[in-house]
Amino acid sequence: MKNIIIFGAPGSGKGTYSDEIVKRYGMGHISTGDVLRAQIKAGTELGKTAKGYIDNGQLLPDSLMIDILADTYDSLPAGQGVIFDGFPRTIAQAEALKQMLAERKHDMGVMVELVVDEETLLARLLNRAIEQGRADDNEETIKKRFAVYHAQTEPLAEWFEKEGMRHTFTWKGSKEQMLGEIFAFLDTL
Ligand code: ATP
Ligand code: MG
Repeated sequence: MKNIIIFGAPGSGKGTYSDEIVKRYGMGHISTGDVLRAQIKAGTELGKTAKGYIDNGQLLPDSLMIDILADTYDSLPAGQGVIFDGFPRTIAQAEALKQMLAERKHDMGVMVELVVDEETLLARLLNRAIEQGRADDNEETIKKRFAVYHAQTEPLAEWFEKEGMRHTFTWKGSKEQMLGEIFAFLDTL
């Protein structure tokens, strides 16, 4: 499978759909949020730094994220395709990803954009707070993450559009329907 960048607001289902895509196409998966939460759990220096930003709903510095991304990417088997989940989140990260892949003579692949209304997003994240107890899934931090998403990440959709990579899928109330539309597209690649 080609590389896939899964893109959307907090709670849009990036992790959920990534897992389904991995099951169907057998590719690698990099979730930068999961990488950072594992570092926090392990109590590393990086984890301590990450916690300060995450608990505040802020993004980590681009330079740090770009290094983490490259290291994680190089640790995966080459040639099977990778889903990038939670990266890039800024234009600088997108430019860095483009350069990193070009250096390795790998293709950027496609971008899958998940569009979900904000009322649904908030309900999902509050529900996840109960089920998974993620420290940043409280109403105050969620509001900050939405604001950061609108200011820093959403403009990236246009960047992908210009790259000819953007494929948009809109939530209409059913996971099966959304997944069916995503698979129908990915099957054509
Ligand atoms: P969801 O998991 O529901 O899609 P989310 O997108 O807010 O929600 P994660 O992708 O798990 O959650 O990211 C959690 C936090 O980790 C972010 O709010 C941010 O602080 C940090 N983070 C993750 N990826 C990046 C990145 N590429 N650049 C900067 N910070 C990041
Ligand atoms: Mg996630």
